[in-house]
This record gives sequence, structure tokens and C-alpha cells, in this order.
Amino acid sequence: MKITKYILSFTFLLVALCAEAQQLRKEAFDLLNLDYPGLEKVKAACDQQQWDEAAKALLDYYRQRTGIGHPDIDMKNIKISKEEQKWADDALDHTFFVHKGYQPSYNYGKDINWQYWPVQDNELRWQLHRHKWFTPMGKAYRISGDEKYAKEWAYQYMDWIKKNPLTTVEKEEYELVSAGEVKGNAENVRFAWRPLEVSNRLQDQTLQFLLFVPSKAFTPEFLTEFLINYHRHALHILGNYSDQGNHLLFEAQRMVYAGTFFPEFKEAAGWRKSGISILNREIKKQVYPDGGQYELDPHYHLAAINIFCKALRMADVNGFRQEFPAEYVNTVKSMIEFYANICFPDYSNPCFSDAKLGDRPAEIRNYQDWLKLFPDCEWIRYYATEGREGTPLPNLSHGALTSGFFTFRNGWKQDATVMVVKAGPKGEWHCQPDNGTFELWFNGRNLFPDSGSYVYAGDDEVMKLRNWFRRTSSHNTLTLDEKNLQTTQSVTKLWKPEGNEQILVTENPHYDGLKHRRSVFFVDQSYFVIVDEAIGSAKGTVNLNYHLCEGTVNVDGKNNSLTTAYDGPSNMKLQCFAEKKVSMKEKEGWRSTAYRVRVPRTAVSFDIDKKDSEAIRYITIIYPSKNAASFPVFKAKFLNKSFDENGVRIEISVDGKKRQLEYKL
Ligand code: MG
Repeated sequence: MKITKYILSFTFLLVALCAEAQQLRKEAFDLLNLDYPGLEKVKAACDQQQWDEAAKALLDYYRQRTGIGHPDIDMKNIKISKEEQKWADDALDHTFFVHKGYQPSYNYGKDINWQYWPVQDNELRWQLHRHKWFTPMGKAYRISGDEKYAKEWAYQYMDWIKKNPLTTVEKEEYELVSAGEVKGNAENVRFAWRPLEVSNRLQDQTLQFLLFVPSKAFTPEFLTEFLINYHRHALHILGNYSDQGNHLLFEAQRMVYAGTFFPEFKEAAGWRKSGISILNREIKKQVYPDGGQYELDPHYHLAAINIFCKALRMADVNGFRQEFPAEYVNTVKSMIEFYANICFPDYSNPCFSDAKLGDRPAEIRNYQDWLKLFPDCEWIRYYATEGREGTPLPNLSHGALTSGFFTFRNGWKQDATVMVVKAGPKGEWHCQPDNGTFELWFNGRNLFPDSGSYVYAGDDEVMKLRNWFRRTSSHNTLTLDEKNLQTTQSVTKLWKPEGNEQILVTENPHYDGLKHRRSVFFVDQSYFVIVDEAIGSAKGTVNLNYHLCEGTVNVDGKNNSLTTAYDGPSNMKLQCFAEKKVSMKEKEGWRSTAYRVRVPRTAVSFDIDKKDSEAIRYITIIYPSKNAASFPVFKAKFLNKSFDENGVRIEISVDGKKRQLEYKL
């Protein structure tokens, strides 16, 4: 590891020296373009070195400023949710809402301890510095008119500056914290000044500025402190953009916000330009031609759409849409189309990789926001209005061949059957080694929800929890000795998305000496037959893993079958057939429904000893049914005697009715 020098910056000394109260900071005026229209009085006072007058004139200017729009708030109709009101009220006692996974919120002390870290989960420490309760305090102030919120916000704002000085750090060292290699004040910088958190504040402080600027607590002195702090934030991003991924997108979009919302800063135009050029560059790099974002995580895919849209909306309300080419807007639309195709009828997305489940009202609001950008799009209108207006996408099944997301679908309504298979290229940090896995929705229930992520990164204990949910064998795919995949680079051999025998054939190299070919048949648009072939010279125990939805499941080890007995009209029977002796094992099963929330569930693997280079082959029938009282009797066998690189031929029987399924490559 590289050894870094930690040098206390000039800024740190300066902030430490004038720690206590707000002071008029005349250097704030050096940061502004005093020739900006409206700043005439400020300029005249500065010319006379009348700093008090200048600060008062500047505050007057901001209190009366018009002409800069903000797309994220309607100042004439400010609303606060119950939850936000609680965060605002709790914050008065320094009980800060930091993370939904850590509730009730922690108290950070009368004398706020910004380094308090009760559980060593990096997210808990990072997200403290996003100040999620500040904007709710602003709304509470505006709605109630009670100065206590403004007074406390200004106090906390200054307290944060005082106790979280920016020391110089080298960019690549931000990530060292999870390895626990840096302690003390230098450690704190890596949390308080990580570019993602800085950009979050950069964005949200535009709202806080609008909400608090009329208050008594927002004094001319405070204004100068605010501007200097804000300026430092923007410069910090400019010099420390993340290398790639969603972090970089967030940072760029927020620089667009900073440069647009505070055009009075000398460098504002440059900030905006920097943000726009990164977004224009990254949208080409991070989005595959099929509309999938390269992190291959449905939640970050959604986040990326919203980043690109936020920048567009900021451009629209302030008249610079033309700085985004038509190609940018078209790509955003293709990302929305990708997302609509992988989602289930209740608007939830598959929880592949680190994806969150999301909630229905928020998802519908997303479509409503997107409709404003694409008012002529009938399918966005359909999802935005819960099917009351517009028409759904013209396709049912859909393949995103570069990203490797394949959806078998027989409808768009609640009673549909929808299977989404993930089998794509290598993804980024948030992507899990889960090639070949799937989720299956039937008639109102997700019968095979993904394990999810449970937690992100932190100390050993946190990482152990994360790794259980992340590992290959916690997914509906094939493993050797339950090991994680060595290679995650699926190749699509066949994709036939139409008719009564729809087919996906996908192959992943898996391990040295063992590749996995998975062939999925969507039969009569009602049930699934999956052929799994483990091919190569590797020896060991081959596991075919399945993880069901929580609830009652009847396990029949003798017939290698599972039948669900869930409440309501959404159940299924799964039965596995193989040529060699199979032992069906019940295993520890969990799925995460939210950050640090998990529920137990039935999980099994069908294990076969692989003693030589002969391929191990399985046929699994998954038969969704509204009626859990009786399921059909299944049989299945291979008709081609051994693994054939060029195709597969099987015979299945459902209640005695035989049928052949096959493909040729
Ligand atoms: Mg997963």
C-alpha cells in the first residue's frame, strides 16, 4: 500500500482559528464576479472596503434574486412528509437521521461528535456527512415559520465546518478506510470529504439556501461563511472527481447544479461546463447500446437515469437544454426502456447485485418525472399512470444482449408471468458473481427473489454479512463445491423471444475446468424448463442452487421436488431431473428485503458428484400455478445421449402428456 502524507492545509488552520462564531469573511467577495448583474451595490461597497455594507447588500440580493430556477422544489407550495418532520424535530436534539438501515437514529451528543461511529459500517459514517436532515429542517422552518429550525441549522452548519476541516489527501486514498488503515483526524477527512458526500452537500445546500435565506439566523456574516464553504466544496469535487461509475455521474450532475444555482461565483460557468462535459462523455461510456448501465445493478441503473434526468431538468428550467445533444436524450430514453423491461408488474426491480427493492410510489413518481421530459412517449405514460393512459411497450419478452438481461414475459398486468435472467459481462463493484441467476414473478408474487445485498462495506463483521448475500451459491445458479465464480463473462448462444417455445441459451466460463451452459425454455408462455450442463474436466460436487420466496414450502427429497403452499393465488412446483445420482440438500436461506433487514427462506441445492470429465446435466421444471392444492406430475429426460455443443433435445411429460423441446445452434 502506498504511504500517504497528511498535510494540514492552510484552510484547516484558518478554520480552527476562527472556530467559534460566524465572522464576516471578506475573502468571500474575492470569489464572486462583482460585475454580475444585480451585484452593483455589493461592488460599490467592496470598492470602499465597507465589508459590512457589502455583505448586507449581497444578502439583500440573494433574498430578492429571481431568474434562477430550481427543478427540485416548488417554493410556492412547500410540502413536508411526516418522516421529514420527524427528522427535522429530532435534529434539534442532535438525533440525526443518517441511514434507514440504522433506526432509531443515533444521538450525536450535545456537543456534536461528527466522528461518532457506533457500528463500523462505512455507510453509516459516510452518510452522516450528507446531512439528510438539513433540507427537512428548512421545510419545517418555512411551513411553521419557527426560527428555531433556522437557528439550529446555522449552528450545525458552522459546527460541521469547525469540526471537519479539510486536510489535503491524495485521491486514491479515499477507499483505504474500509481496510481500516487510517485513523484519527485524517481518517475523518476520508468520510467527511469523500467526493460523493461532498457532491451530495453541494446539491442539497442549494435547497437549504433557498429555504433558509429569509431567516434571521441567515445573517450577512453567515452568508460569507456559507459561500466560502460552498466554493471549497465545488473546488474539491473539481480536483477529486471519482474515476468512474455512478459516483462520477453524481458528482458531475451536482457540479451542474452548483454552477447553475450560483452563477455569481467567478468559476461558475466552468463548473457547469465540467459537469456537462463529463455527463456527455460518460453516458456514451457507461451505457451499453441496449440501454443497460455498465454496473449491471438495477438500482444503480435507475440512479443513473435519474442523474442524467436531473441535469436535463436543471438545464430546462434555466434555459440551457441545447448543451445536451439529442443523442444524450435518446440514450436516457433507452435506459428507461431497459428498466421498464426488467421490472415486475408491481414496479419492483430484480434485486440483482446491490440493487434495492424500491417502493411503488417512488417508482411511479420516477415515471411521472420521466413523462415530463418525454411527454409524447405513450409507454412512459402507461407506467406513469398505472395503465390508465397510454399503451405498454409493444414487446413482451425482451433481451438486452450486451448487458445480459433477458426477460420472458406474457403480460404487463399483475397476473403476468415474468422471468428475468441475468447473464452478462463482468460488471463493476456493485455487480455480484451471479451469472445465470433469475427472478420469477407470477400472479402477484416474486417466487424467486434475489438474496439482495443486505449491507455494503465495513469492518470484517460487516463484510462477512455482505459476502453471504453476494456469493454465487446464494443465487439460482450452478456452482462447483459452492465456490464463487472465477469468471463472470456470459455469452449468449441463442435468444428466441417469441412463440410458444421461447428460448435463452447462455454460457458462462464459471471456473477453470468447468463451464456452465444454461438453456431456459418458456413453454406455452406459462411454465419454464431449465437445462443446466456443467462441462469440463474439473472434479468435485456440482450444486444446482435454488432459493425460494419466504413462506411454507413442502420439500420432497425422494422426488427432488419442492411445492410451495403460500397464501393467495401464486404458487409453484419445482422438480429436478438428472442422469446421475442427485442428493437434494436443504441449506441456510435468507433474502434481504432492505438494508440490514433479512428474512429466512427455503433454499436447496441438487448435488451431484462429478468424478470425471463427463458433463453433469440437469433438467428442472418450474411450474407456476394459482392452485396450490394439486400440481401436475412431471417426468423429464435427455434424448441426446451426451453433452452436445450444438444443441439439446429433451422430452418432458406433464400429467402424462409428452412433449419434446430442443434447439440447434
Ligand atoms: Mg444477488
